[in-house]
Amino acid sequence: MLSTLPERLSLIRQTIEDATRRAGRSPGEVDLLAVSKTFPPDLIREAADAGQRLFGESRVQECLEKIPMLPAGLVWHFIGHLQSNKIRKILPLCDTLHSVDSLDLALEMDRIAEDLGLRPKVFLQVNVAGEARKFGFSAQSILQQIETLLGLRRVEVIGLMTIPPLVKDPAESRPHFAALRELRDQLVKDTGAKLPGLSMGMSNDFETAISEGATIVRVGSNLFGGR
Ligand SMILES: *Cc1c(COP(=O)(O)O)cnc(C)c1O
Repeated sequence: MLSTLPERLSLIRQTIEDATRRAGRSPGEVDLLAVSKTFPPDLIREAADAGQRLFGESRVQECLEKIPMLPAGLVWHFIGHLQSNKIRKILPLCDTLHSVDSLDLALEMDRIAEDLGLRPKVFLQVNVAGEARKFGFSAQSILQQIETLLGLRRVEVIGLMTIPPLVKDPAESRPHFAALRELRDQLVKDTGAKLPGLSMGMSNDFETAISEGATIVRVGSNLFGGR
């Protein structure tokens, strides 16, 4: 690992850009979400000073503690499993949520967003590999529930997100990323909705995810170090 955080950030940005070009896509099509969960405000500030604006957190309590200590211009995305009783706390802090993993959660979020006068953007989390212990819609449930999800008044569905099974070789993630893209294409065909976003790819496999169409990659340890 390179020694300083700004050096690592710049390498990751370059790697994203190279992977985007190799995929025949335009530079700037893929956003970097810096996953800062477990890391202290000082490190986040260092990344912000080096030009990073988008940050991802996965625990509500940590958001409540850290976000108020950081510059107001940063944009926060929530990426962890969310319990409905925490929606009211997280919506004012995070304008985008990557981990909406059930219809019930989406319905409750819509109700609370109405109360708060907010319009959260969400990715629907899909368990593409059908892992027994993982959160997320199954491909089948999303196909059945998409019309309801797209009809929500306050919650805007902007795309799909997945966390594939943990593997050493990023090549093994490729079929799962492809499956998410194909599911998105099917939903677009079925509904005529846009669903432009694909949130997929982490430190060890974001280049593969970009080659399969990721529009935002969630990178933590490559940037901030081991957890
Ligand atoms: C922690 C986390 C990441 C970042 O993982 P790294 O391997 O550290 O890059 C990405 N997505 C989600 C949902 C996470 O919880």
